[in-house]
Amino acid sequence: MNKLIVGNWKMNGGLAANEALLKAVLAGLTSADASVSVGVCAPAPYLPQLQTLLGGSAVAWGAQDVSAHESGAYTGEVSAPMLRDFGCRYALVGHSERRQYHGETDEVVAAKAQRALAAGITPIVCVGETLAQRDAGETEAVVKRQLAAVIHTVGHCSSEIVIAYEPVWAIGTGRTATPEQAQAVHHVLRAQVAAATAHADQRVHILYGGSMNAANAPSLLAQPDIDGGLIGGASLKPADFLQIIQAARR
Ligand code: PEP
Repeated sequence: MNKLIVGNWKMNGGLAANEALLKAVLAGLTSADASVSVGVCAPAPYLPQLQTLLGGSAVAWGAQDVSAHESGAYTGEVSAPMLRDFGCRYALVGHSERRQYHGETDEVVAAKAQRALAAGITPIVCVGETLAQRDAGETEAVVKRQLAAVIHTVGHCSSEIVIAYEPVWAIGTGRTATPEQAQAVHHVLRAQVAAATAHADQRVHILYGGSMNAANAPSLLAQPDIDGGLIGGASLKPADFLQIIQAARR
């Protein structure tokens, strides 16, 4: 299975900066990178730009959120079919910044995952514990609860999701989980999703996210249950993003 490397630009970028970044990434990819699946998740207004610049390339694109509703009176929201209109392959759901600043509950995150799947978009379901939860020994219970809500809602489609384990204390902090810490949680998530997808023939990608960079990517990606990365800050720097992609080659 190819590893999957997905950039999360968060609320960064602009037409000129995006074009420069994407052109540098495309120019830096070599045939050896064909063994890696790559995507970038951009702010919604730039999705048509990504469709233009990345269409026909090896790099897929996606959104950073999706509405839990199908259509109607939900001012400011963007539905899954709208994302599909602009060629999105992925949508992040339940990123900790959405859970923290927008009050997204496990149930809302699960509904978003279901909407994405119904529109043919792969939801990248983000789970992760806060530092207080880790210190209290609750890591496993927290991530299992977050993932269980999605599995419960999407049922047999659970084999079509991507999971991203993102310890909240490691996001944007420069503090990364050690490969062993990350592997331990990935192992738990692997068992949980495997039980729900017993008859699926393809294993679900479980990405690590949280201050992954060119230096720490090789050791994280070498872990048996780490199938790729969700990359925030380093995805804005083409050289760094390319090095992470190289570290994910088979
Ligand atoms: C993220 O936003 O999903 C993320 C992992 O950010 P960073 O790599 O900057 O920690």
